[in-house]
Amino acid sequence: MDLYEHQARELFEENGIVVPRAEVTDSPERARDIARRLGGRVVVKAQVRTGGRGKAGGVRLAAGPAAAEDAARRILGMDIKGHTVGAVMLAEPVDVDREFYVSYVLDRAAGRFLAIASAQGGMEIEEAAAERPEAVVRVPVDPAEGVTTAVAARVADAAGLPPQTVDVLVRLWEVLVREDALLVEVNPLVRTTRGAIVALDGKVTLDDNALFRRTRWGGGRTTPADPLEARAAGKGLTYVRLDGEVGVIGNGAGLVMSTLDVVAGQGARPANFLDLGGGASARVMADGLSVVLSDPAVKSVLVNVFGGITSCDAVADGIVRALEEVRLTKPLVVRLDGNNAARGRAVLAARAHPLVEQATTMDGAARRAARLATAA
Ligand code: GDP
Ligand code: MN
Repeated sequence: MDLYEHQARELFEENGIVVPRAEVTDSPERARDIARRLGGRVVVKAQVRTGGRGKAGGVRLAAGPAAAEDAARRILGMDIKGHTVGAVMLAEPVDVDREFYVSYVLDRAAGRFLAIASAQGGMEIEEAAAERPEAVVRVPVDPAEGVTTAVAARVADAAGLPPQTVDVLVRLWEVLVREDALLVEVNPLVRTTRGAIVALDGKVTLDDNALFRRTRWGGGRTTPADPLEARAAGKGLTYVRLDGEVGVIGNGAGLVMSTLDVVAGQGARPANFLDLGGGASARVMADGLSVVLSDPAVKSVLVNVFGGITSCDAVADGIVRALEEVRLTKPLVVRLDGNNAARGRAVLAARAHPLVEQATTMDGAARRAARLATAA
């Protein structure tokens, strides 16, 4: 989950990193009052969970309270890369001497973090990185050791950052650890004309798996934008909506992903990813079916279950009970294999629902579901 700039700013401030004085509002009139409080001149900044606000016109310098109100009115409601601006932050302007870039990011492949730093920060960092890759340094960070003063000094030195940034680098690492973040980025970290080091913009991405212990940003998960995904999340299902016509339900992420491939291989497009997880009880099956069936794009549904610890007859029982709860409106192709497959198939055959058919292989099931979807 990405935090807004003003939330990142708050975390930085709490950890002793210098940030400009600032306040957030969603009203142009209040923006005028805030500007007055902050001394008149302010930077008005769109609060959206995406970068590149400056280039999109979402960061404006206002000369006084009236100009701040005007800037807020222009920025609020603006679209920046598909994000609608719902709030602005007004910040005391800083006289910038130099702009730097610093971040810590999880390097999943290496199982470590990377400190990334450059003395060429600011809005042109991407261009600088592309034209002169040596201007951006990457230093692996051992998560057990963390960023000590010695590590931070090495990063600052390698990137050509002034020695006063060492303290900020250490504190920034502390923010990452304390908040269970996967990324913290400051761009630009600036040296002011008076020599102070100030974080002018911040980005923090929290680890969603740790959100249960972060009540402060709304107590857990953010609601997915897609209404079906939101409904599935409410039922505790692992569901991702895709743009095809074959609904896919399976047990285990790996099996579900290969089912998506097999459906695509049969010339159809999967409408979703839905992993029932282990167990696949009647409850989960009924919830899963109801979510998948309520997608109007779905023309057929493929249930692909490989019984391991879960036995297929329990899964078949789950499907039969789910059919009592959910009115099946589209053809359902079921492939059961593995533990107790024969008994599971017998349970479904005995139920003899007119819209349910069985297939014995994954390819066969996908072919049939694809045909049903394209014929519909
Ligand atoms: P981004 O475009 O989304 O990364 O938004 P930023 O918050 O980084 O702002 C874009 C640019 O505006 C920064 O790189 C700075 O160059 C500039 N900027 C923002 N705040 C100030 C400020 O207080 N003083 C000065 N001189 N420049 C600022
Ligand atoms: Mn920035």
